[in-house]
Amino acid sequence: MALTRSLDAAAVQRLHDAARAVLSEWTSRLRDEAVAHGGWPKKVTAFHPRMAVHGRYGEPCPECGSKVQRIVHAANETNYCARCQTQGKLLADRALSRLLHASWPRHIDDLDPG
Ligand SMILES: [Zn+2]
Repeated sequence: MALTRSLDAAAVQRLHDAARAVLSEWTSRLRDEAVAHGGWPKKVTAFHPRMAVHGRYGEPCPECGSKVQRIVHAANETNYCARCQTQGKLLADRALSRLLHASWPRHIDDLDPG
């Protein structure tokens, strides 16, 4: 998670390469599924069972098993794995972190297990 203006040229290139790779992988995956299921899916949603963390708040990350975290802003929710994607840092959730202030846990290892 970073502001785009804070990215240097190498980071922009890595982001571009990663976006292309992920989009290419998912294009192939969804094409294969469409063929296997006989055409365009009847129900299209933003979620897919093979997405790692999107729509999986509270479920285990498929890479490390840590609970998937979330940031809620307005009607939107962003899901992420703190251990895999933010070096363990818990991103401030406007609702909860403002409520909890100083007791807001900063790192995934500061969360109560369970
Ligand atoms: Zn993880």
